[in-house]
Amino acid sequence: MAVIYERVALIGLGLIAGSMAHAMRRAKCVTEIVGTARSAETRAIATEINLCDRITETAIEAVKDADLVVLCVPVGAMEAVMADIGPHLKQGATLTDVGSVKQAVIDIVSPHVPEGVHFIPGHPLAGTEHSGPHSGFATLFDNRWNILVPLENSDPAKVDQLTQYWEALGANVETMTPDHHDLVLAVTSHTPHLIAYTMVGVADDLARVTESEVVKFSAAGFRDFTRIAASDPTMWRDVFLTNKDATLEILGRFTEELFALQRAIRQGDGDHLHDYFTRTRAIRRGIIEAGQDTSEPNFGRTPGTKD
Ligand code: NAP
Repeated sequence: MAVIYERVALIGLGLIAGSMAHAMRRAKCVTEIVGTARSAETRAIATEINLCDRITETAIEAVKDADLVVLCVPVGAMEAVMADIGPHLKQGATLTDVGSVKQAVIDIVSPHVPEGVHFIPGHPLAGTEHSGPHSGFATLFDNRWNILVPLENSDPAKVDQLTQYWEALGANVETMTPDHHDLVLAVTSHTPHLIAYTMVGVADDLARVTESEVVKFSAAGFRDFTRIAASDPTMWRDVFLTNKDATLEILGRFTEELFALQRAIRQGDGDHLHDYFTRTRAIRRGIIEAGQDTSEPNFGRTPGTKD
């Protein structure tokens, strides 16, 4: 495949950056991958597993002469990182990020972007509950959506180049406004994570069902909440702190629907419950038809394995 960017700098070397590095190598779409992380430990692991072509001690060294710089740190860390690297970005370079919220990232990153650098925010809708430099893998973005959020003055040629890059990494690309992105993600990701965290927390609080019973009988549904609720605490704290309005709006609607279902159960309104569950089942079918999940029973898990 043709080279899309000569030098790419990954700031932060966790699940997303690690997967990008593997996917870039698979696609051969970049001449040099430079990476950096905050801790010496992460940098040492990245060096040991040969994650990038070059690992630098500081983010300032990593962005030197980079044609594409990708912020792959938690949203709450982006402002400090940008204050550091902003003055060292190459003229004409593209700067993007992979943060799970978009308006807040734009607000904190934009003031640090120098004239002549093209900031095009982004968010790959792909992830797992694992983190760190070991957790990345080349196929993470395959057939997943990457949402780009070009700003009003974004250069269309630079947006095209970034689109081609993400397509080379296996993703499908769509563009959205930041507000719309944050609302869509509040529905599809942020509120579901909050509900999973709550459900697992409730089970933890219940004194009448023992912890060993919760674990033993978890395959009845609870287990699938626990996978989501095992997601990185720092990342998810930042998501809720920075996508407050949209999450609260969806949570309000969720609470209303929950009360309606609660009333249906109390009143023995089977028709309401059946109609509701029929509608939700159709949404699941739509997700499978769109190729965004497997139709295999048990999400394709092999009975008896731990994955
Ligand atoms: P991760 O595996 O936990 O890696 C985070 C990286 O950021 C690590 O290299 C870490 O450095 C560094 N970091 C953490 N706090 C920092 C700070 N205060 N200053 C500088 N560096 C810091 O995280 P990830 O899952 O790849 O997530 C990275 C970004 O992708 C986040 O913005 C997240 O919202 C977004 N995202 C995540 C997912 C997902 O499902 N995980 C999906 C889409 C987008 P050390 O290792 O040295 O501590």
